Amino acid sequence: MRYVSTRGNAPVLDFRAVTLTGLAADGGLYVPEAWPTLSRDEIARLAGLSYVDTAVAVMTPFVAGVLTADELRGLCDAAYARFSHVAVTPLVQLDHDHWLLELFHGPTLAFKDVALQLLGHLFERFLSGTDKRLTIVGATSGDTGSAAIDAVAGRHGIDIFMLHPEGRVSDVQRRQMTTVLSPNVHNIAIRGDFDTAQALVKAMFNAPSFADRFALSAVNSINWARLMAQVVYYFYAAVRLGAPERAVAFSVPTGNFGDVFAGYVAAKMGLPVARLVVATNVNDILHRALSSGDYSKGQVQQTPTPSMDIQVSSNFERLLHDLGGRDGAALGAQMAGFESSGAMRLTNAQHGGAAPLLVSDRVDTDDMADAMRWACESTGEVIDPHTAIALAAARRAQLEPGVPVVTLATAHPAKFRDAVERATGVRPSLPARLGDLFDREERCVTLPATFEAVTAYIGEHAHPSA
Ligand SMILES: *Cc1c(COP(=O)(O)O)cnc(C)c1O
Repeated sequence: MRYVSTRGNAPVLDFRAVTLTGLAADGGLYVPEAWPTLSRDEIARLAGLSYVDTAVAVMTPFVAGVLTADELRGLCDAAYARFSHVAVTPLVQLDHDHWLLELFHGPTLAFKDVALQLLGHLFERFLSGTDKRLTIVGATSGDTGSAAIDAVAGRHGIDIFMLHPEGRVSDVQRRQMTTVLSPNVHNIAIRGDFDTAQALVKAMFNAPSFADRFALSAVNSINWARLMAQVVYYFYAAVRLGAPERAVAFSVPTGNFGDVFAGYVAAKMGLPVARLVVATNVNDILHRALSSGDYSKGQVQQTPTPSMDIQVSSNFERLLHDLGGRDGAALGAQMAGFESSGAMRLTNAQHGGAAPLLVSDRVDTDDMADAMRWACESTGEVIDPHTAIALAAARRAQLEPGVPVVTLATAHPAKFRDAVERATGVRPSLPARLGDLFDREERCVTLPATFEAVTAYIGEHAHPSA
């Protein structure tokens, strides 16, 4: 499989190179040259498979030429052995039509573990036997940071620098990052919001002398391998609910558009997906884009769902590229316009092309809390605020009757227990394996949100690449 940039003007890479790089050299994002497909029979044969076997069947075409199916299986076995549930991503029934897909049974209690645990193994595999080092630089609004740090802590040849907006991640999220004391882990609190932190990371990737010197690599969802790993659970859930005979809908709490884009990829690969509900909080740029074609930045508002407090969704570019006929030059011009003015219109092909599959909704904090209460009182399930945004959207989306609707449960409720307690009166406790989180020592530096301050710090603490 070969990978091309959404802006059409960067080297074509194989899976190994695309995993080790971040942004493409032309500022775009890497996507497979063409979508591999599974036939109806192949999808039917997934029905009885374990999570790892499903993962191998779904991901093998994407790693072709770099890893064999057996090599991929070895990495998946190692990555998913760390999950605390044997099903890895179990389904839980809520009512006649609604289900939760629990994606939070990994080491840091967030769905990001599903992809990042695998990515940690891929990095190690691709670096071993070389004298190359990798410097992972990322921005997190909470969950990516802890999941990425857990995935690479102590791994040879890798330094990780994780930027988070100071004071804007939950205590549990912060401590999950800052209490990892491995010498290759560097936490940086930025005096600014998440979009500022993300812009700093982008600027580092766009500074070739810096990016090359430290072999910068990305772990945020601009990394293709992460999206690939997320495609798996759409197949795993859908076949359990009757695919390929029955189409299944998914409702996805959305921030950077990585998770829901993985659902789009699953549909492109042949999975019968009835609808993807793109659920946003009041930071609703994606809802405005999908409903009216207006993709324009607003001010980020802080909400009880910090992982969705985003105005610019990096992965949306991948969707626009695919819907726009994969015209890299046209997309490059469109994105350059957006980057300079903070606003753009979707083309008719993009807006109209999204409509049959993607619907969107904006859920405010009251409706989120109502969804948490409904789940708690009517089904006995305590859900986290991000999951509740998607559940609220799923319950009011007008889907065809009889279509099973799967809400992606992206975080364990204990990660956001204050918000959960406020809505439901129930205070979820941390699983035993994290029980002493509040007693552990923390390590973190605070820096101003400037390119100079952050690159100087990284320059002092990272190992240049060989
Ligand atoms: C990251 C995250 C999201 C948003 O996922 P995207 O892929 O960025 O759209 C939603 N919920 C939780 C809990 C998250 O950590």
